Amino acid sequence: MIAEVIVDIAASETDRIFDYLCDDDTVVGSRVRAPFGGKTLPGFVMRLKERTDVPEERLKKVLPCPDELPALNAECLSLAEKITARYRVPKALTLRLFLPSEMRTGKVRELMRNYATLKVPVSEMKLVKSAKNQIGAAEYLAEHGKTDCAYLNGIFPGGVAALEKKGYVEITQEQRLRDPYKSVTSERVERTLTDDQARAVHTIQTDGRTVQLLHGVTGSGKTEIYLTLIAKCLEEGKSSIFLVPEISLTPQMLAQLRARFGKNAAILHSGLSAGERFDEWWRLRTGEAKIAIGARSAVFAPLENLGVIIIDEEHDSSYSSETAPRYNTFDVALLRAKYNGCKLVLGSATPSAETYKRAKEGEFSLIRLDKRINKRPLPEIVIADMRREVRRGNNSSFSGVLKEEIEKCLAADKQAILFLNRRGYSQTVICKECGYVAKCEACDVSLTYHRDENCLKCHFCGARYKMLRACPECGGFKLSYAGTGTQRIVSELEKLYPSARIIRMDNDTTSGKEGHYKILKTFAEKKADILVGTQMIAKGHDFPAVTLVGILDADMSLHFSDYRSGERTFQLITQVAGRSGRAEEQGKVVLQTFDPENEVLRFATSYDYEGFYQNEISLRAAMAFPPFSKIVRVLVTGEDDKKCIEALREVYVRLEKLYTDNPDKFLFFNKMRAPIKRIQNKYRYQVLMRLSDVSVLKDIYDICAEARNRDALVSVEENPANLS
Ligand code: ADP
Ligand code: ZN
Repeated sequence: MIAEVIVDIAASETDRIFDYLCDDDTVVGSRVRAPFGGKTLPGFVMRLKERTDVPEERLKKVLPCPDELPALNAECLSLAEKITARYRVPKALTLRLFLPSEMRTGKVRELMRNYATLKVPVSEMKLVKSAKNQIGAAEYLAEHGKTDCAYLNGIFPGGVAALEKKGYVEITQEQRLRDPYKSVTSERVERTLTDDQARAVHTIQTDGRTVQLLHGVTGSGKTEIYLTLIAKCLEEGKSSIFLVPEISLTPQMLAQLRARFGKNAAILHSGLSAGERFDEWWRLRTGEAKIAIGARSAVFAPLENLGVIIIDEEHDSSYSSETAPRYNTFDVALLRAKYNGCKLVLGSATPSAETYKRAKEGEFSLIRLDKRINKRPLPEIVIADMRREVRRGNNSSFSGVLKEEIEKCLAADKQAILFLNRRGYSQTVICKECGYVAKCEACDVSLTYHRDENCLKCHFCGARYKMLRACPECGGFKLSYAGTGTQRIVSELEKLYPSARIIRMDNDTTSGKEGHYKILKTFAEKKADILVGTQMIAKGHDFPAVTLVGILDADMSLHFSDYRSGERTFQLITQVAGRSGRAEEQGKVVLQTFDPENEVLRFATSYDYEGFYQNEISLRAAMAFPPFSKIVRVLVTGEDDKKCIEALREVYVRLEKLYTDNPDKFLFFNKMRAPIKRIQNKYRYQVLMRLSDVSVLKDIYDICAEARNRDALVSVEENPANLS
């Protein structure tokens, strides 16, 4: 038998299918070990055939891998083909999306552990007094029964091995499944669906369209709808994929899923250890677990017979991949939903303008939940005009009204969340005399001061720099720390409310996979009064005792030069406000701004999504921005500036020809340096385009795939979330 094999090297030179001899029982989709250029490399069997044109003497044989099932099923193989063709990436790179990386590299296998059991009572053992480790291990085993040898060796080095030699203990090998989030638990709650929820479930199940948009205000009970859909699938023996935007959200959701579905739920995300990810993946592949939950990469979960795919917070920017292939989660999910004949449910309180437009035009079904559970009112949003505060001489980060509300909240023994768009102590370090700004040497972006470590950090590459005493340019000592970060807010709060318990959540405080969870747990258990945080605290969380939310710098995200900044600001305010007053108590939100007349803020404070959408979509139409066009950025990056410029020139010449041949398909075409000229020592150049007709997209991908070389990476981004 001949196997067509893709060898797992993501280089364009080897991006083709190679023929190998294989065993007759080889299965399509299985992993093999393929001799390749003097090495043995992992590969995948894509097809089987009887004959090959490769002459016999050059035909090599692949060795099978001892997997109980082929790693890739038929759906994965067909999906991989489509993704490869769509984004023009090496086939091996696409296949990698479907497997946990540790499976490819073979670093982790099932976790086999040695366990020791006593065969002889301790009293009958002949052990000399000095054999302390043997005696210790034997006594431990007598008391505790079967024990992990690694554990015993930690306390009594060598003891077990010596006991085994003498025939006193037996050693057995057993697989131990790692259990991520062991500590994450929640009470199982059975809820009767409200009429609105039941109606939504019914529509999703009976509507003929594949894509179902669930547009429900914050706290309208969308989660319960998802869980019901998943439970119905499980009853029918079908599997489900449930996607959530951020890792920080996953533990809460997982706890609920665990309580309800037990071992049927498996988690897939990058925060797990290699071994955990491997185990969870196999549980899904073998069908032992039927529910995959995770961030965007879980859309590739190895499940068969899908009954539903859910994308919660569908508007979230984390659903577009920022590494090749730069897939859009929605597109992949739609392919899978069609393949399986199942529904794709999108949920959001603030759908993206693009999704909402498609729903309004009838392409997607649109289900509305306009009220919170139990008709709880949405929190009132008060605007605090920070210009007036400054005029009054208030230079602190808190307006008068916010301070008042914090005091009321603390006095009533309730909790508050203060939201800020930045982390660190303050934004940048500027010399007031010469205007020098401290920048990262590798990235050309300004550094952020971190007070607790007294250093400057680059938020792009993580590099740390010593704090400056004087300006390196002019030697002046008047350095100013412009802007305000989460750390600074915390220290201001500590001064204002010395008895309040304040915690902070941002990228600096949440290391490790359970870092987020611990902070959220502390807050949920009311062991803190005020939570200060960045984006991370905006989404999904359900803390019943929170009655106050402060948005400290509502304008921040309005000033990004990005067509989506209005939409992002609206979403962010709605999401953060949605954390307040979720239980019996009426909630309040204080929104601080220097631009109180701004119309996005006005729509957000009156919870007028429809009004916001109408305004936004007519702006987009007038400006010919997405969804009325497609923004495409070709980014050239590499360590060698000259080589980058060469590659840029090559793609530019060909792209320009495409442009001049099809002038009616382009709205904009320009080459320039990327706004951030260097990140992690890589130079960056871009060609920015706006297309009115996406039929040229394929040509753009082709041109870029061909220009890619060892020294310069050429990538294509569609409607990039970030144009830095
Ligand atoms: P959303 O995801 O729409 O923001 P959630 O799913 O978090 O809303 O639900 C909001 C609150 O309402 C949660 O505290 C949840 O436990 C509660 N809830 C949801 N459905 C029901 C129900 N049918 N009966 C009682 N409480 C419910
Ligand atoms: Zn840097």
